[in-house]
Amino acid sequence: MLLDNRIVLVTGAGSGIGRAVSLACAAQGATLILLGRTQATLEETYDQITAAGGEATIVPLDLETQLHRIPDLAKTIQERYGRLDVLINNAGILGSMTPLSAYEPPIWEKVLRVNLTAPFFLTRELTPLLRAAEAGSVINVTSSVGHQGRAYWGAYAVTKAGMVNMTETWSQELGPSGIRMNSVNPGGTATEMRAQAFPGEDKEALPTSDSITPVFLYLASEHSKDVNGEHLDARKWIEWAPPEAS
Ligand code: NAP
Repeated sequence: MLLDNRIVLVTGAGSGIGRAVSLACAAQGATLILLGRTQATLEETYDQITAAGGEATIVPLDLETQLHRIPDLAKTIQERYGRLDVLINNAGILGSMTPLSAYEPPIWEKVLRVNLTAPFFLTRELTPLLRAAEAGSVINVTSSVGHQGRAYWGAYAVTKAGMVNMTETWSQELGPSGIRMNSVNPGGTATEMRAQAFPGEDKEALPTSDSITPVFLYLASEHSKDVNGEHLDARKWIEWAPPEAS
């Protein structure tokens, strides 16, 4: 299968896009490390993966308040697997949709911590394990508002712009050591976060989380081995499937 023997860590794996991507990677043979804040939802993802014959482990960890636990997590992954093939920095929060001049500083701090500082710190601590993999791949989940700022999207848009820049900067630094870093913009997708941002919207009209997983499979697989520092739009990859082995 596409991701046989790969060790894949997904943040925010208990819901939405993170859950769909975790299930899709597991269905392609990967062993999943499911990280998130809420144990119960992580367990649901775990149950779905194992019921289908896949392998996973859960790591309940709050990316706002428990970054100090990440070095221990790296140690555990080192001891258990000796490497990490793919890191998907997916977890995120919306914060409040208010003008920046009215934005509450504690919410600003929280959004920056979960959406930007946590992916930085996680990637930094896990880099030695990604280097130990044959072709380490980091996938940062961004947003359209990270490519072009938009009124009332506040700290969320600022953190996604930070992710875009972090992808460009870090991909150049990591490239020579064989690790690649790219970003994915999911586009509007039917999840809790989207419903929070657009409460009146008909979610049936939006792509599902399951439908946008192909771009993640592509970036996690050897088919993207020469792709580094790119920003991919998930909508353009919905039809992607691995080429048949000849
Ligand atoms: P979601 O269903 O709300 O998922 C967000 C995930 O992040 C949840 O599993 C949540 O866990 C986790 N999370 C939040 N705070 C956390 C913390 N402090 N520590 C650990 N985990 C935490 O929303 P989603 O739409 O799937 O979002 C996934 C990513 O896609 C986000 O980065 C988002 O910005 C991006 N995105 C989404 C859309 C869209 O239309 N849906 C568009 C562009 C970009 P809990 O449930 O336990 O809080």
